[in-house]
Amino acid sequence: MDFPGNLFVVAAPSGAGKSSLVQELLSRDAGIQLSVSYTTRAPRGQEQDGREYLFIDRAEFEKRIKAGDFLEWAEVHGNLYGTSRHWLQQRMTQGVDVMLEIDWQGAEQVKQQFSNAVSIYILPPSYEELEARLMRRGEDAAEVIVRRLRDARVETPHASTFDFIIVNHDFSQALSDLQAVVAAQRLRYAAQRRAHPEVFKALGIL
Ligand code: GDP
Ligand code: ADP
Ligand code: 5GP
Repeated sequence: MDFPGNLFVVAAPSGAGKSSLVQELLSRDAGIQLSVSYTTRAPRGQEQDGREYLFIDRAEFEKRIKAGDFLEWAEVHGNLYGTSRHWLQQRMTQGVDVMLEIDWQGAEQVKQQFSNAVSIYILPPSYEELEARLMRRGEDAAEVIVRRLRDARVETPHASTFDFIIVNHDFSQALSDLQAVVAAQRLRYAAQRRAHPEVFKALGIL
């Protein structure tokens, strides 16, 4: 099935800068809505329920899996994460642009359901820099950081299945790369037909 707006799927190993880049993009682009995932992970210091995530326990998550509430879900770093089917379906009826910040397993599930989804993988410049960023962020316990760095080595090879790769070395360069992907997607034939139906009609283009 095709998604009627533009559907962007962003993934990255933990600490690559995915959330920072997406937040910066959204603050400059009011035309994209970010899906808030459900998770069984405990909230970090500044995180608020309903803003970064909808925090639920494992029993509640499993109940929601059985009820078919998730468009996709996956176990990542020992916690469960899932995207609300209901929320995305609402956005589909509005034809708006949507961003999903999910892991590579979820990205594959979304691609299977929406063939026109645009997938973007964010790479850190090196594993050393990834570790430095996780330490500097200062939000995760030492053993959590160790686990995430170990997982990163398994996750990054999956970058090969994504449509676009952004290397987040220099933040402002990575941000303009992300903006370029979004801009290019909005210029595709199908997107332009949706955005400017009157022009296409006036010019007699199908
Ligand atoms: P971060 O990687 O440091 O941002 O840490 P998080 O705990 O916020 O996320 C851990 C991983 O879970 C990341 O790879 C996220 O992209 C992924 N994730 C978050 N929400 C979802 C979701 O709804 N579905 C899936 N499949 N993965 C998700
Ligand atoms: P993710 O969402 O991928 O786990 P974050 O957006 O939380 O990553 O970024 C991890 C840490 O790295 C944060 O402290 C962030 O400020 C920092 N960071 C992000 N991009 C860069 C960059 N290009 N250079 C240096 N530090 C960065
Ligand atoms: P519910 O329990 O009805 O699925 O969701 C509770 C609240 O969270 C509602 O306000 C609903 O709109 C919101 N919500 C549920 N799932 C998502 C989601 O994936 N993204 C966002 N942004 N909001 C959601």
